[in-house]
Amino acid sequence: MTGKIKNNKYCRGCPAICCTNLSMGIGKPANPKEVEDLKWQLQFDTVKVYISKNRWYQLVEGRCIYLSEDNFCTIYDHRPKKCRDHNPPNCERFGKYYDVMLENPKDLEKYFAKKKRKK
Ligand code: SF4
Ligand code: SF4
Repeated sequence: MTGKIKNNKYCRGCPAICCTNLSMGIGKPANPKEVEDLKWQLQFDTVKVYISKNRWYQLVEGRCIYLSEDNFCTIYDHRPKKCRDHNPPNCERFGKYYDVMLENPKDLEKYFAKKKRKK
């Protein structure tokens, strides 16, 4: 999730959500060890996991080093392709980008417990 768009009407007033969250695809934990590892990562208050269309992602909160204090990209003309490809209104400000959000180890436990009950 990257790409604060300067002077774009959709970005006006946005706290640059896309430049303050780093989203990375991860595999669904496939065994107890992987579940424990993910639970451990979720102990950190900067880390979340979300599921979208059955794909799992890790979300790390933190500001891009090129984001100014007033939330503009300071390398706008040279920003990476990933940022250029991220265009509002198809962005996290205007739509729910996840089906499930897991914010801590308990959320992950509850998610798997619920899945187990449904089987
Ligand atoms: S390079 Fe610019 S557009 Fe890309 S994440 Fe950083 S601040 Fe945002
Ligand atoms: S989240 Fe969307 S509206 Fe906000 S800065 Fe990023 S692209 Fe613009």
